[in-house]
Amino acid sequence: MIKDDCIFCKLANGIFDTNTVYEDEDFRVILDIEPASRGHALVLPKKHFANALEADDETLGAAMKLAARTGRALKEAFGCDGINILQNNGEAAGQTVFHLHVHVIPRWEKDTVQFEYKKNSFSDEEMKATAADIGKYM
Ligand code: AMP
Ligand code: ZN
Repeated sequence: MIKDDCIFCKLANGIFDTNTVYEDEDFRVILDIEPASRGHALVLPKKHFANALEADDETLGAAMKLAARTGRALKEAFGCDGINILQNNGEAAGQTVFHLHVHVIPRWEKDTVQFEYKKNSFSDEEMKATAADIGKYM
């Protein structure tokens, strides 16, 4: 379940040293090496999955629970005003390390973190058709 050339497999399983916030049988929570803000943490399953779309439901559920728990710990530790829990899937979506991980990012009212996208607008008809197109595959 460990991929030989995967850095996060090595970090999650303690083969490489890292700053660990929490560890259990299935997960390790570490500090991001280039944090968006102080305390920026990554939830890593010990088992290798390329991303969330490849992972099993049990791992995904547990990862989200652990991300929320990490967010609560960050609030206690630093009194931040908010927490972003986010997760990238695929290079086009900004994923750079291809082992499932969930970012937990502390936010303050006036911090330097930015997540931006241009807002689009579609007609009611287009929105209905879009929902139906996706729904076919659910
Ligand atoms: P993503 O762009 O969603 O794939 O996020 C990858 C994250 O992993 C980035 O925020 C990196 O700063 C972080 N990262 C990369 N290598 C390491 C490492 N050795 N230890 C901790 N975090 C890392
Ligand atoms: Zn891996």
